[in-house]
Amino acid sequence: MLDYDLHCHSTVSDGTLTPTELVNRAAARGVKVLALTDHDDTDGLDEARAVAARFGMAFINGVEISVTWRKHTLHIVGLGIDPDYPPLKEGLQSVRSGRGERARKMADELAKAGIGGVLQGALKFAGNPTMIGRAHFARYLVEAGHCKDMKSVFNRYLVTGKPGYVAHQWATLADAISWIRGSGGVAVLAHPGRYMVGKNSMGKKTLQELLAEFVHLGGQALEVVTGSHTPEQYVEFARYADQFNLAASCGSDFHGPGESYRDMGHLPDLPLICRPVWQSFSLH
Ligand code: AMP
Ligand code: MN
Ligand code: MN
Ligand code: MN
Repeated sequence: MLDYDLHCHSTVSDGTLTPTELVNRAAARGVKVLALTDHDDTDGLDEARAVAARFGMAFINGVEISVTWRKHTLHIVGLGIDPDYPPLKEGLQSVRSGRGERARKMADELAKAGIGGVLQGALKFAGNPTMIGRAHFARYLVEAGHCKDMKSVFNRYLVTGKPGYVAHQWATLADAISWIRGSGGVAVLAHPGRYMVGKNSMGKKTLQELLAEFVHLGGQALEVVTGSHTPEQYVEFARYADQFNLAASCGSDFHGPGESYRDMGHLPDLPLICRPVWQSFSLH
């Protein structure tokens, strides 16, 4: 059985390792098939692919697109995409373009709550300033001593209803899927379990409506094994994949040493009822 990791982040979005460092780590941890899936940006793919080739590792071009569906933020992973496909390139550019203003608003809100200088501080952590996001804010707020770790920053400041949370309009679900599919990729609904916890989370009925719409729009797979799912959720989402005739994907969602739910590679097997998403790839 090959070791697949089809979801991770580099400094091109909100990971802490460069694409080269990330692929080195994946190789050291036995990953044989890797997809780099930075948020809303594909700039790390060439570098990662070149390093993967040195290790004889199969490399899949990926991306994780931020989407607003109803009142929810969703993440759609594209696997096997062509980063030069103009609608995808332009679409990602438009998704990224709102991040600067959102970051300024977040910093203003935090300043009103008594925490100043956060935009400058967060930018120090952003390898790619056009991709400034909540994880960079969180790293700065930990460094500045406002919270002990990333998780508590999110809970205290960066989620719905908290002082540093700013609602944002991302891509539509239809656009994200059509950019991915139009470029030759497979559209995967990432970490579904995360949409079902916290304030404003979706219930089972809404999840079913989302899955039906995702399939209708051309979505092809569901992330069943991911760093933030429990073993019970692997089974739960394997059943949803089966029910909606979706393939199943697996990835660590690694962001950096010491700060992610899971390190890269060595992921648990997909439940047996799953149809693995990689059956549709041609690996070489
Ligand atoms: P953004 O796209 O800027 O809204 O940032 C979303 C990113 O924040 C996710 O991809 C994660 O990297 C990170 N994130 C979200 N929620 C949490 C959390 N509870 N703990 C740690 N990181 C989180
Ligand atoms: Mn992230
Ligand atoms: Mn995500
Ligand atoms: Mn991710």
